[in-house]
Amino acid sequence: MSAELRGLGVARGIAIGRAHLLAPSELEVKQYHVQRGDVLHEVARLNNAFSLVRAELEELRGTVSSEAPGEVKAFLDLHRMILDDSLLCDAPRDLVRSRLINAEWALTIQLEELCRQFDSIDDEYFRSRSLDVRQVVERVLRRLAGGRPAVATLPRQLEEGERLVLVAHDMAPADVLALKERAGVNLAGLVLEAGGMTSHTTILARSLGLPAVVGASEAREAIAEGDLVVLDSDSGRLIVNPDAALLESYRQRIQEEGLRRAELRKLKGKLARTSDGIAVALLANIEMPEDARDALEAGADGIGLFRSEFLFMNRDQLPSEDEQFEAYARVARSMKGKPVVIRTLDIGADKVLTASARDSLGILPGNGIEEPNPALGLRAIRYCLAYPELFLTQLRAILRASSLGTVRILVPMLAHVHEIEEAMAFVSRAKEQLKDKRQKFDGRIAVGGMIEVPAAALTLPAFVSRLKFLSLGTNDLIQYTLAIDRNDSAVAHLYDNLHPAVLHLVHKTIRTGEKARIPVSVCGEMAGDVILTELLLGMGLRQFSMNPSQLLVVKQRLFELSTRTAARLSARVLRSHDPIEIRRAIERSSADGRTAARLSPPAAPAAAQVSA
Ligand code: PEP
Ligand code: MG
Repeated sequence: MSAELRGLGVARGIAIGRAHLLAPSELEVKQYHVQRGDVLHEVARLNNAFSLVRAELEELRGTVSSEAPGEVKAFLDLHRMILDDSLLCDAPRDLVRSRLINAEWALTIQLEELCRQFDSIDDEYFRSRSLDVRQVVERVLRRLAGGRPAVATLPRQLEEGERLVLVAHDMAPADVLALKERAGVNLAGLVLEAGGMTSHTTILARSLGLPAVVGASEAREAIAEGDLVVLDSDSGRLIVNPDAALLESYRQRIQEEGLRRAELRKLKGKLARTSDGIAVALLANIEMPEDARDALEAGADGIGLFRSEFLFMNRDQLPSEDEQFEAYARVARSMKGKPVVIRTLDIGADKVLTASARDSLGILPGNGIEEPNPALGLRAIRYCLAYPELFLTQLRAILRASSLGTVRILVPMLAHVHEIEEAMAFVSRAKEQLKDKRQKFDGRIAVGGMIEVPAAALTLPAFVSRLKFLSLGTNDLIQYTLAIDRNDSAVAHLYDNLHPAVLHLVHKTIRTGEKARIPVSVCGEMAGDVILTELLLGMGLRQFSMNPSQLLVVKQRLFELSTRTAARLSARVLRSHDPIEIRRAIERSSADGRTAARLSPPAAPAAAQVSA
């Protein structure tokens, strides 16, 4: 009988395979007291087990192929660091001596203590590091038990063409790697009961391109060894023993997706150009430093939008200047001179700081939780201007990173000219502070502004004269032009990116930037919506910034478009005030293209977007 489970889809793609259940990773740990005379022996057992695991990790590191993603070695290094940390390797020895307990018991006491400390940190990334500690300890426990290295075994013989879906409570990244190496192409996907978006195993699955669903808490109860499993990591669905029709439809999807991706990958190294030879820059939107990897994978021309506020959320303490610098520097370095546009903190509305983080700023009511109308409240640049130290700290960190690449500053949600002037004054102050400390930065760093409030789009001359570039935040521009809360599903049907008012503001901004000779990009979701590529191109847009997963599709579309016909489409659309006519014109035009694209009815973008 078929069954369906849900988890968190953390990597892309669909996998079909026979389930192989890995034994629970928690080992039975014997606990007993030892005689004083046996303490040395117990400590020696611990030392020996640690040495064996050290060698095991070294060996694994040596087998990582040079083509493996950089994270792979980083995971192994992290586990090695954890293993060598005195909190893990020295503390259990002390426990053996002071409490006269066996090695395993001492190790698990210390493990629980460390995990308790990690779990109390209000930050998902750090919390998920307790998984790494657990995985390292399990390796040592296995060695103490005289067991083999902690790599799970492969199951029974697979039949011709059959592939495996591993189902486990949790797995260490190193084990995934070892299994991937042994199973090769036979490993189709991974299902874990534990894990989250930022656990290392998840990150590894993503970088290995392994479809994965994590957080599927009942997986080992619902799935039996040998069951046929469809794993849809795009949606987080797991279907156990699907019926023939469903199986066939998934097989077809895998085939189509494979063909599509293979075609698209061929475009990675090519410069994006229209059929009449006009170059277009395709940039990536990222939320966290590690996302820069996806941008590079997709062949992005740079980072068009780094939503820096994601570094500030879900944590009790705000990131220090140094921590921010590291994050920005990591992106700047990895992009190797390609532009990196770092948006200053766009906190507020639905992106809120935790209560303790707000407390640390001395913030009384506000910041989006208690406000009567948060989308119209203290948000983005308004927030930064209200908390100068917060803003200055971030500006110093961005400026310091600017000495390592082509970094630009982007200020969100501008509506008033005085906001630009105040922001500029803060940039100058931050530069002075760095000069005083003799710290390096790019003195000519470009500062640009987001056009996402109609007031800015309607008074552009004042903006273009003060800024070096503009970025159209269409997600918010639509929200504020149409008075539709982008997070409110009750009005989602009114959120229409083709509303003539929106299109006129977008067009006007692109043209004004062009006349003033300053670059304009679109970094809202419209830029990655392939059906709108021609329209935006026709309006004169030459910089599109989007989720990396959309980048090659948009590139493919650009190759089949000419700026002349795109301009005709744009003129036709901008002449009309009738939304139905506008949609028809766009659909008709895209029907000639090879790139599959359809206009969806105006509907809720809120859940699908990283909202602001
Ligand atoms: C936008 O508003 O279009 C934008 C890119 O910013 P965010 O989605 O982060 O608000
Ligand atoms: Mg926005």
